[in-house]
Amino acid sequence: MSSLAPLLPGTVALVGGGPGDAGLMTVAGRAAVEQADVLLVDHLAPEEALTWAPVETLVVDVAKLPRGAFTPQERINELLVEHARAGRRVVRLKGGDGFVFGRGMEELQACTEAEVPVRVIPGVTSSVAVPALAGIPVTHRGIVQGFTVISGHVPPGHPASTLDYGALARSGTTLVVLMGVATLPAITAALVENGLDPTTPAAVIARGGHPDQRVVSGPVADIAVRAAHVDPPAVTVIGEVASFAAVTAASTLEEVN
Ligand code: SAH
Repeated sequence: MSSLAPLLPGTVALVGGGPGDAGLMTVAGRAAVEQADVLLVDHLAPEEALTWAPVETLVVDVAKLPRGAFTPQERINELLVEHARAGRRVVRLKGGDGFVFGRGMEELQACTEAEVPVRVIPGVTSSVAVPALAGIPVTHRGIVQGFTVISGHVPPGHPASTLDYGALARSGTTLVVLMGVATLPAITAALVENGLDPTTPAAVIARGGHPDQRVVSGPVADIAVRAAHVDPPAVTVIGEVASFAAVTAASTLEEVN
């Protein structure tokens, strides 16, 4: 079925909203929002996309609960199923792609277990798009033949970490770190301790695609210090391609705003 087929009552669409600029949502994602009876949104979803929903759409900000807490994932799963069972067209809009550190599969499983019809509409993931918006390609012919995307949520050495920093340091791929602002000092130290050249270029791009996008660049050994004042959300790129950030900043990139 085409991703543009009408959304039937009683169905759920899991929509990746891209990195924050509504212009970077897919055509199918926009069409789903335009048909939504209920829209469940996250804090990283593009705010302007909410204006595409019909005025009568129930918009639920699942990032917020009274006292600043987040809605637990189990509750979001229940809401998807409850609204769909009530015959509504339910659109779950989140940042980037829902299957890249987005818990999209948990929501898909909740729907399939409840036998609620569900459609996945992929999004433009920040792991590729945010570097691109700063003029950094995650691959470049003759320089690097791959890229590795990791979550920095769990720091190296933590019992819950499953990443092999020796393998990452030797991978020969561009490393892209999401959710890694607070842990950047530990991550970059672990990479250098495991043999990554400390002069390897790195760049931190905060609020990619927003008018206040910021880029901080420098060698991997220094980047955590240089980016110490950067607030999330930010993507860190480590590898030769990160040196394009400086070139791009000096020349061609259009102002984001
Ligand atoms: N599913 C999302 C990622 C969710 S994890 C995707 O595919 O993009 C959240 C992390 O994404 C943030 O901590 C940050 O590392 C990154 N991120 C998302 N939007 C961003 C933006 N506009 N600018 C910089 N980083 C962003």
